[in-house]
Amino acid sequence: GKGGVGKSTMSVYLALALNSTGAKVGILDADIYGPSVPTMMGVNEKPVSDGKMIQPIHKYDLKLMSMGFISGDKPVIWRGPMLAGAIRQFVYDVKWGDLDYLVVDLPPGTGDASLSLAQMIPLTGVVIVTTPQDAALGTATKALHMFKNLNVKILGLIENMSYFECPTCKTETHIFSHGGGKNASQKEGVEFLGSIPIDTEIRTSMDIGKPLITQNLESEVSIQFIDIAKKLAGKISIEAFRALPVIE
Ligand code: ADP
Repeated sequence: GKGGVGKSTMSVYLALALNSTGAKVGILDADIYGPSVPTMMGVNEKPVSDGKMIQPIHKYDLKLMSMGFISGDKPVIWRGPMLAGAIRQFVYDVKWGDLDYLVVDLPPGTGDASLSLAQMIPLTGVVIVTTPQDAALGTATKALHMFKNLNVKILGLIENMSYFECPTCKTETHIFSHGGGKNASQKEGVEFLGSIPIDTEIRTSMDIGKPLITQNLESEVSIQFIDIAKKLAGKISIEAFRALPVIE
């Protein structure tokens, strides 16, 4: 969906939540405009290559590759073929090893990176991330339609920054409107995977590269992400089962 709605945050938390149940998980940060996953995971080093394959970074029991490792602080103007080449390299030339899940964090909108990825590898599915207000929902819906047109399964939609709970009086305030994600899911016939509130600790923990879920699996935020990850894992295993060849 739209920039700033929390796609990278959801990618990192969902990857960590899937890993917390024992799965082997990789995370590929393909956000060419703002590769923020290394910062969110507190990674400073760069991956090394043995001349043939690139060794992904290992952090919090995840394997990580990021467009940020190529571009650093400098802006890169990615033209279509160059971008497709980089994505191909990240998928096929990285020693991902035996993974149960590869979570890919995509750039905003409906651009070349999403298109290249959908055409290059058999994606199990896509998770749409949005905030509840109309502007974000519009972009999310466009992305959803693009993936549907590319015959990629929509695994579901997450509404991030759904509400803010006052830490003292516990009142919920719907800063960015209310119910938009659920309504859009119903309208588009996709599963609503859950709502994540605005939580200062989500932001501060990501800024210092220590996602909350790596510190405490029992916090409310961790439980919410683990719940979404479980729903996703269930859907993904059904999709994987459906994709098995039929033996006559
Ligand atoms: P995107 O990948 O869609 O551009 P990010 O994941 O980079 O968005 O999130 C943008 C900013 O919002 C980051 O600083 C992130 O820490 C913060 N953020 C995301 N989700 C939440 C949340 N639920 N509560 C508080 N801050 C959040």
